Amino acid sequence: MGDSGRVVIVGGGILGTMHAIMARRRGLSVVHLEREADGRGASVRNFGLVWVSGRRAGAELALALRARQLWAEIAGFAPGTGFRPAGSLTIATGEAELAVMLEAAELADAKQREFELLSPGEVRAVNPALRGEFLGGLYCRADAIVEPRVTLPALRAALAAGSAGPSYEWRPGTEAVELGDRGVRDSGGTWHRGDLVVLCTGANLTGLAGAHLTATGALASAPGAGGRGLRRVRLQMLQTLQFDGRLTTSVADGDSLRYYPAYEVPSLESLPAQSAIAAASRAQLLLVQRLDGSLTIGDTHAYDEPFGFDVDEDAYDHLLARAEALLGTALPRVQRRWAGVYSEVAGTGAIYHRSTVSPGVVLVTGPGGRGMTCSPAIAEETFLTTEGQPTEGQPTEETLQS
Ligand SMILES: Cc1cc2nc3c(=O)[nH]c(=O)nc-3n(C[C@H](O)[C@H](O)[C@H](O)COP(=O)(O)OP(=O)(O)OC[C@H]3O[C@@H](n4cnc5c(N)ncnc54)[C@H](O)[C@@H]3O)c2cc1C
Repeated sequence: MGDSGRVVIVGGGILGTMHAIMARRRGLSVVHLEREADGRGASVRNFGLVWVSGRRAGAELALALRARQLWAEIAGFAPGTGFRPAGSLTIATGEAELAVMLEAAELADAKQREFELLSPGEVRAVNPALRGEFLGGLYCRADAIVEPRVTLPALRAALAAGSAGPSYEWRPGTEAVELGDRGVRDSGGTWHRGDLVVLCTGANLTGLAGAHLTATGALASAPGAGGRGLRRVRLQMLQTLQFDGRLTTSVADGDSLRYYPAYEVPSLESLPAQSAIAAASRAQLLLVQRLDGSLTIGDTHAYDEPFGFDVDEDAYDHLLARAEALLGTALPRVQRRWAGVYSEVAGTGAIYHRSTVSPGVVLVTGPGGRGMTCSPAIAEETFLTTEGQPTEGQPTEETLQS
């Protein structure tokens, strides 16, 4: 870091905003650029799940647990995020799913995740809105929820409120178009310079960082990469009207066991095949009740580009039927449907991507489906690695990119 005391951040999603918070914690002033009027990317399209339960054992779990702790701290001065330590329930409707959960609950790190395998009666005692038929559930007390549609403005309001500290300058409608040493030029021709520039440009793998990603062979689509590296994933989501009941936890179905590395236990192989529609859309049910009572329901996974520009109704039929089966009641009318895209690092073992694009300019992207969860800890690591002081027990930059 130099001596201007300023950090320039490009991208108003959760990664950029958490970098602003961590910069301010270090006494640095922040200029924060966002090309849209507000964050419009994955950070406002997600479930708002701070999801420790499914994280891979080791560095990924450690990062998520650190992030969970930071979220609780940050929510203390930004209550508008709607952070609540609600926990989650992953529900088993078949014996094979229950067997996977039993194994996961007996793993060495189950205590850190605050896992507990519950009987159907115990599941209903924790979350009485679950009135369907099931065999049990895995309770994860470490999981939490935030409100994605309001989290970014709530965090910015908290940043702006700290008037006694270093300044925070939010510049919406400002697209960064050119990189320089410790600076970026916006489309209006103004250069923004600081000790450090952090590009948190989300799933946009072309544009500002595109040439760097191509030149360094970081993209999964690069010749010879064999699909290993940064790629994009598209998900479908929906939101209902207000549900007549209160879900005390977030909820996942047994299909989620297939998607989260925490459940890579021997009995996973015994899970029966997913239904044809679920398999085709790589669906898992995740269900979160918003503070206004509505239900956010998803998701699906598409990996092959070009992505469809429209949403597929078969996948929604499947997800709605699964949600109704677990809740044991009809759902309210669907009010909104949307799709979102995130970037992730595939097949390398990395948790996310951080690289130096030019002197004093760092790109941070690719946290995949764990970006909302891990963002505060990822941002913290950017400053620790930039200052050359990786914390004990946290993955170093080399680990992250190996
Ligand atoms: C449907 C869906 C559900 C998900 N659910 C969860 C979940 O429940 N929990 C979880 O942990 N994760 C979840 N994720 C993943 C998580 O949302 C992402 O990993 C995270 O939001 C990525 O944040 P970001 O800031 O990198 O990207 P974004 O939110 O996409 O932000 C990038 C921002 O950069 C701006 N930008 C880009 N280029 C420029 C430029 N040149 N100049 C200025 N601005 C620029 C864009 O306009 C955008 O606002 C989900 C993702 C999706 C799509």
